Amino acid sequence: MPNPKRKHTPHRRDCRRSANSKLDAPNASKCSNCGAAKMPHRVCPECGFYDGKLIVAKKVKKVQEDHLSKRLRNNDNRA
Ligand SMILES: [Zn+2]
Repeated sequence: MPNPKRKHTPHRRDCRRSANSKLDAPNASKCSNCGAAKMPHRVCPECGFYDGKLIVAKKVKKVQEDHLSKRLRNNDNRA
């Protein structure tokens, strides 16, 4: 039965093991409201919007609050 002639060095062993353990970057999609990167099919962690609707109200800066209230009024008009 064939056997290796020499024991492999720890470096060679570790290189072999690390070659298969690279992590993939998680998928990210763009929020349709604020454009931030977010997980697909999840509420945006930055603005709390999903599918163009406000799902989770968050504390936001005053400039964004005006934008949000405008957006909410538009949603109310449509409904
Ligand atoms: Zn967002």
